[in-house]
Amino acid sequence: MELTNIGVIKQLFEQHGFSFTKSLGQNFLINPAVCPKIAEMGGAKPGVCALEIGTGVGVLTKELAMRCDKVVAVEIDTSLKPILSETLAEFDNVEIVFADVMQTDLAALLAEKAAGMEVVVCANLPYYITSPVIMRVLESRLPVSAMTVMVQKEAADRICARPGTRDCGAISCAVSYYSEPKLLFKVGRGSFMPSPNVDSAVIRLDVKPLSDRSAEWERLMFRIIRAAFSQRRKQIANPLSGELHIPKAELSELMQSCGIKPTARAEELTLEDFARLTDCVALKLTQKSW
Ligand code: SAM
Repeated sequence: MELTNIGVIKQLFEQHGFSFTKSLGQNFLINPAVCPKIAEMGGAKPGVCALEIGTGVGVLTKELAMRCDKVVAVEIDTSLKPILSETLAEFDNVEIVFADVMQTDLAALLAEKAAGMEVVVCANLPYYITSPVIMRVLESRLPVSAMTVMVQKEAADRICARPGTRDCGAISCAVSYYSEPKLLFKVGRGSFMPSPNVDSAVIRLDVKPLSDRSAEWERLMFRIIRAAFSQRRKQIANPLSGELHIPKAELSELMQSCGIKPTARAEELTLEDFARLTDCVALKLTQKSW
């Protein structure tokens, strides 16, 4: 069944009484070149289990199922169930869990369905939860080697921006801490049904090995990063002083002691700068017995 053929899709929808739910970010891929490319570039191959978030009618699921040993997918919209039973009928290596990915224990799901397998995440993500899904996968240290996802072009630029450059934000720092991000290719709005108002891009995040930092240290660093970017055009000493309850003069001294100009703005700091600052702040807070 050609799932990128508009006629085929419309017939499926009519037959099963399906209509799009805009609030679920339902923009389905209809460009036949895109899904095979996501699957190939995302590392779908024998021996691998692909975790997909949001199946739609199964257009990417099918490409993953053809290449991987197993596909585990999470889809929130139960009205897609009868359609997927038809479109994926020929595959016995696909398991779809109908649930909200944000409420799903993905670690438990993978432990149950993909134990001992290399796991890659491949998805055309619902735009309204792009960053939360990416951060959920990375922060929870899922046993995933790479994450290849379609997101809005602007989000792709922000997520892949290098810390210390103009486009970067808290999400760029977090993504760079956990992975090596790369923008793979752009996808025009005409590749979707219905067509969204913006273009998209596929990015790949190659997950880095576990760092030896403690969870407490990481929480402190991300607190510092979020506070620093909360007023991105301002000197970071201002928001950090409030967040960490350290007087501004003391904080400026502390920044200087770890080689960061007290007048620096968040977008000027590299990940190494944030890590050094976190070390100094952690030491200071310990002395204050926080
Ligand atoms: N993979 C399909 C494709 O490329 O055509 C569909 C992609 S569409 C952009 C996003 C999909 O995610 C939809 O099927 C939508 O129902 C599903 N979705 C939205 N929110 C979700 C959530 N919280 N948990 C799981 N799936 C969700």
